[in-house]
Amino acid sequence: MAYVVVNKQRPTTVNDAKEWWGLTDHAASHLVRLLAVCPGVAVSSGRRSPERNRAVGGVAGSLHLEGRAVDLTGTRRRLEHAAWHAREESRTPGRTGPQEVLMESDHLHLGW
Ligand SMILES: [Zn+2]
Repeated sequence: MAYVVVNKQRPTTVNDAKEWWGLTDHAASHLVRLLAVCPGVAVSSGRRSPERNRAVGGVAGSLHLEGRAVDLTGTRRRLEHAAWHAREESRTPGRTGPQEVLMESDHLHLGW
């Protein structure tokens, strides 16, 4: 008997990222690419309802409300590595990389 382990915190396809975290196509494709080169980080938050956003102290107008942001957890070192990759992506020609790269005390917030 074979088991397939599904790790919802690390989607490997755009469709899974959209379905599991309520992301836009754009955000989902960036997230999947980032996770592929960043082992050891996990998604802890994606799209939020206005109620949920208020409950977790999210800012008004947060990209989480539009399915354009995720929070990642992991060790500080892993999160800094992910932040570096995200920032590099935003410097490429025709930049569609992240609009927000915010290192918080216990997570990395990325918004596209
Ligand atoms: Zn966030």
